[in-house]
Amino acid sequence: MHYPKPPEIIPLDNILPDEPLLMMGAGPVPIPHKVASANSVVINHLGDTMNRVIEQVKIMARYVFQTESGHVLGVSGPASAAMEMAVCNLVEPGTKVLSIRNGLFSGRLVEMVHRVGGDVTVLEIPDKQAAAPEMVERALKEGGYKVLTVVQGETSNTVWNRHLAEICRLGKAYGCVNIVDTVCTLSTMELEMDEWGVDAVITGGQKGLSSIPGVSLIAFSDEAWARIVARNAPMSHWCLDARLADKFWNQQSYHYTAPVSGVLALHEALRLICEETLPARFRRHAVCSAALQAGIEAMGLDLLIPAEARLNSVVGISVPDGVSADRVRHIMSQLYRVEISGAFGLNILRIGQMGEQSRTHHLSRTLHALGAAMRVAGGRVDPPAGMAEMERVLASNVVRN
Ligand SMILES: *Cc1c(COP(=O)(O)O)cnc(C)c1O
Repeated sequence: MHYPKPPEIIPLDNILPDEPLLMMGAGPVPIPHKVASANSVVINHLGDTMNRVIEQVKIMARYVFQTESGHVLGVSGPASAAMEMAVCNLVEPGTKVLSIRNGLFSGRLVEMVHRVGGDVTVLEIPDKQAAAPEMVERALKEGGYKVLTVVQGETSNTVWNRHLAEICRLGKAYGCVNIVDTVCTLSTMELEMDEWGVDAVITGGQKGLSSIPGVSLIAFSDEAWARIVARNAPMSHWCLDARLADKFWNQQSYHYTAPVSGVLALHEALRLICEETLPARFRRHAVCSAALQAGIEAMGLDLLIPAEARLNSVVGISVPDGVSADRVRHIMSQLYRVEISGAFGLNILRIGQMGEQSRTHHLSRTLHALGAAMRVAGGRVDPPAGMAEMERVLASNVVRN
């Protein structure tokens, strides 16, 4: 047998930068050392050790979701897999679904509903606005919906659905189970699954939780679970079948080999959240994001979304005419080793404020890099004024890092 010559491959060390870039975009976000080191461990996916880890992950997830639900499941896959798990288990062919669409990610839920044959009505929210409860109620009245989908924070254009609690209350009043995407917002701002009437809460690892991408979490309410158990239509997805996943997550038996290292990483990320406590964490995020926003504006740039609908977890910046967002990003990463995000199709920049991104030392480096790169790219900005204003807001709201 003659084997062709194996390919010549450059070692990773020669591809990766000597010093990692500071990840200040829309995710993935920097991970704490404890998370990174847990992610380097492999253990048996079944047995006592794993069972103890899983028990704790569920206990901590209940705290972070603010729920008493017994239906917390991990998902091997991106947050999109958790979205798909919620949709494919709760929507049968012909199920009437009302989907509130603010942008790309809430639109992804619409597409997922389509693909499983749901009868979806899209409630299109005007640009740069949060979904208004009155508008949602008008749509719900028209009728017969069994499922409502909504995103808490629309990462793609940095809109915050601030009336989420009221929208969920309406959804329940009109007979829906509420599917809520909290991928970028979970643990950065309030979310009370039980209190608000959320029936399926979706999250990923790499944003608010500051864990790794590819291992996600979902929780179903008792009402959602009752629907899943009573479901008649066949389930086309085997990996995402919640009843099968329940075997591993709640019955100590086998579904598929869990991504053990990623679950260990998630364990550590959740543990750090519990240690910090939710109120302290929400406050850290609120203060850091407010300081960053104030600094950006004081520098002479405009924020994309008006204050009443603006997301704190990801800050959107309008790029001045004649300045290229891509050029600014390029300069920031080449010269200052700070990476931020552009947007899908818009000439804007986005800076994340999720988990480890909301640390004062990261803010200084990021705002400085943004100001300096803007100037090189031809933007008329005043970086020292921005830095001074950010410092002022931080100093008047001392945040413990
Ligand atoms: C990032 C994100 C997703 C998708 O996450 P993936 O891990 O890339 O699948 C979904 N919804 C929201 C709100 C997000 O921010």
